[in-house]
Amino acid sequence: MNISVVIPLFNEEESLPELCAWIQKVMDENGFSYEIILVDDGSSDGSWPVIEQLSIAYSCIKGIKFQRNYGKSAALNEGFKAAKGEVVITMDADLQDSPDEIPELRKMIAEDGYDMVSGWKKKRYDSTLTKNIPSKFFNAVTRRMSKIPLHDFNCGLKAYKNKVIKSIEVYGEMHRYIPVLAKWAGFKKIGEKIVEHRPRKYGVTKFGWERFINGFLDLASIMFVGRFGKRPMHFFGSWGTACFFIGLLLSIYLIISKFVDPEYALTNRPAFFLALTLLLLGSQLFLVGFMGELIARNSPERNSYLVEKKLGI
Ligand code: UDP
Ligand code: MG
Repeated sequence: MNISVVIPLFNEEESLPELCAWIQKVMDENGFSYEIILVDDGSSDGSWPVIEQLSIAYSCIKGIKFQRNYGKSAALNEGFKAAKGEVVITMDADLQDSPDEIPELRKMIAEDGYDMVSGWKKKRYDSTLTKNIPSKFFNAVTRRMSKIPLHDFNCGLKAYKNKVIKSIEVYGEMHRYIPVLAKWAGFKKIGEKIVEHRPRKYGVTKFGWERFINGFLDLASIMFVGRFGKRPMHFFGSWGTACFFIGLLLSIYLIISKFVDPEYALTNRPAFFLALTLLLLGSQLFLVGFMGELIARNSPERNSYLVEKKLGI
């Protein structure tokens, strides 16, 4: 099978028939073999009955329904598990992403050798203040921290080699950082394609301004977990040791100066409080690193790495 299209959706009943018809039109024009996986993230409207009808009418349309609303990341993750196509394309269900981009995205993965290609909504049709400006800032920070040169990390329209999506787990709200997850998993060829963006035709947006706060917290944790998740002691231990060591030097200095001038009260000196704080902070950090090491050691994924090739085994 050439292409799997994975579509997470939450209360998008009006858009689905139009979206599926459009995707089918593009696929048939290009002669691709394909499947459309609609993941209903616990919709409370008529989305699931619509999916049932669509899947009866077309065998290439498949559905997954969640018991309740778990979020876009969970929906993508479940869709990824089911996807069988060589190229996997994700898009939003609200008709803001255009299926006309599919042939070019597929070509970049299947022929130009990209591991993943992210859409870039260069001209955006969302309200400027609440989305576009924070999103520019958000993308700039993510770009700097992850060193992946993308303009639009959170674009719903993306394409992947099948093995990329089978190698990553999208949890929490990490759908914003799939390029970062892919990079940590060792996939280096990450490309970008300017895609057409359209105004939302039906329904309402499912994400408010909280997305930016949560987004930055997620970025902090993803960068930390990616670098130190399997060796927390290297992070906490080094800072802890540095703090403790400086505190120790200060204490030695204070003790010596007490011998030199026994009249001078230690508790009147700022260095005393600094030394105390550093010693305590240092040992705390060290302990946190130690606890982290114990947790990492007990994690079933402590040895999760990807073997790319084997010879004679
Ligand atoms: N979505 C989802 N679960 C959620 C929220 C959103 O599956 O909890 C889907 C939604 O139906 C849409 C896509 O994720 O297909 C993007 O959401 P939306 O269009 O609301 O985001 P925006 O375009 O406003 O950033
Ligand atoms: Mg949208």
